[in-house]
Amino acid sequence: MLVALVPAVGVLWFMSVAMRNERLAVQERLADVYLNHLTSLQRQVTSFWQERQAALRAGGQQLPSENFASLVRANLADGIVIYDVAGKVLYPVAANGAAPAGGNAGLARSLQAQSAELLKAGQKEQALAKLAELVGDVRLRDVVGAEGALIVPNAQLLILKTADANALVRRQARDDLEKRLNNYSDAAMSSSQRHFLMAEVQALATAPNLFPTLAAEEMAAEYLEHDAARPSDAKLQRTPLPKVWSLPSADRTVVALFREERLKAELAALIGPLALPDSRVSVLAPGEVVTADKRVPELDASELLPGWRLALSFNGADPLAAASTRQRRFYLLAGFGVVLIIAALAFMVARFVAAQMRLARLKDELVSTVSHELKTPLASMRALVDTLAAGRFRDEAQLRDYLQLIAKENVRLCHLIENFLAFSRMERGKHRFQFKNLAPGDVVRAAVGVMKEKLESLDCRFELRLPPDLPRIRGDAEALATVLVNLLDNACKYTNGAKRIAMQARADRGHVWFEVEDNGIGLAPAETQKIFERFYQVDQSLTRQCGGCGLGLSIVKFIVEAHGGTVEVRSAPGEGSVFRVRLPVAGNDGSEAQAS
Ligand code: ADP
Repeated sequence: MLVALVPAVGVLWFMSVAMRNERLAVQERLADVYLNHLTSLQRQVTSFWQERQAALRAGGQQLPSENFASLVRANLADGIVIYDVAGKVLYPVAANGAAPAGGNAGLARSLQAQSAELLKAGQKEQALAKLAELVGDVRLRDVVGAEGALIVPNAQLLILKTADANALVRRQARDDLEKRLNNYSDAAMSSSQRHFLMAEVQALATAPNLFPTLAAEEMAAEYLEHDAARPSDAKLQRTPLPKVWSLPSADRTVVALFREERLKAELAALIGPLALPDSRVSVLAPGEVVTADKRVPELDASELLPGWRLALSFNGADPLAAASTRQRRFYLLAGFGVVLIIAALAFMVARFVAAQMRLARLKDELVSTVSHELKTPLASMRALVDTLAAGRFRDEAQLRDYLQLIAKENVRLCHLIENFLAFSRMERGKHRFQFKNLAPGDVVRAAVGVMKEKLESLDCRFELRLPPDLPRIRGDAEALATVLVNLLDNACKYTNGAKRIAMQARADRGHVWFEVEDNGIGLAPAETQKIFERFYQVDQSLTRQCGGCGLGLSIVKFIVEAHGGTVEVRSAPGEGSVFRVRLPVAGNDGSEAQAS
């Protein structure tokens, strides 16, 4: 017990320590996996923004306005500001100063002034005619007024505001103006006038989104109103506008403006599909906080986005805890398995030791019994032989008596030795039976033949009931005869005075029964099972007197069971005993038949 308990407790203690350490290690390993994941996301974010930065290049020979429009139309940012290398703003810029009047400019300004007068006087039709004249004259297309703004687009806006909804002049003015405002290659128009006109025309229009670049124009203008200086660093930074961020190109000639929601949406779209199972990564703007898992530290989102961070949190079940639970289950199972193995080994060792001890005890018992049992017949034979050798006998009759006594002791000795040998073979598992189909009557007669002398003695009345036509049994003739001899011998030994011994064989429901009955000393109920154990003797003094060694019935039981049979006893003290052996009838093919 202790042999199994000490190592089992040791193993369990060791496993519990190992389990605790391993649990932490598993959590750390898994946290490392998630941290590596964040690091790889960091690299993706950086390369994404590097690409964006590289795309923010002012295109070669293009006008700044064209650059602006193409970058905004490519949807690279919410707003764009373009600088020259010296840091001067190229787009968007306020209107140029007033251009000198004269020539076409004079005509344009005079038509503008006349139409304004007519409108003031309430002469709408004449005013519109003047405006149509102004707008229709191709020479006046790029003429600017006193404030530096183009005159024709302003006149077109006035027509839009004044003319009836369906008037042809109005439709023409609207189409022309829309086209012109969307045409960023038109160098004559200042960005401030474009921005102003876009807003005015859109306000008058019923259709939405006439100018896709208008929002970018507004953001850029607003940005420049607050801070016109070119950023000093080519990284993402806050602007004076609320929740608007700027990212300059590497040479800082193009500054892209982003609303914070757009930045977050772009980053989320980038990293969302890359998330590891069970986890979610949030992009946090500077100062923003979420409840993230503290075991996986937050990382900077990218060197290009200072202050922005990546934070990991788990959806639902915590995989770190789940992994350590899995690990614990594994350790528990392994520990249980090891304890089971130790217990099984201890059990096997204990069984082996017990078997060895039993064998050693058996050997001792055998040696002492054998020597004692052999001594008695040998001593009496020796005394008889010595008497005869010394010629100390009266006549021939006494000589014959002595010789018969010697022969009797001899038989007893043979019987004893046979039992010892049978027992020894049985114990070593070396007993081999020669199975044959046998007539039960033959077995009975062989046994009675061996016991003839005892059974026919004067103080014994022996009765044999052997019906003809008993079914055959399958067995070893010699071994089965030994069984019956042992039972008959016991019946003689354990019956005092006038012996009445009966032996019968009978068939019953697929079995043949052999019964040996005596009127002897009988057995107490407690003894009826024990007597089949080896070396067990009810009364040592009695058996010594009778000459036995406590092996006969154990040999009987062994042989009967090897034949698929049973042996039992019915007895009461002073009332004799009946020993019954039941053996199966042989089948047609020679095997033992099944009992029905
Ligand atoms: P032994 O060699 O001592 O006879 P057995 O194994 O044949 O050994 O019998 C075991 C014991 O069972 C005997 O010692 C005896 O006490 C008891 N026994 C056996 N047969 C009978 C019987 N017919 N009547 C009474 N007791 C018996």
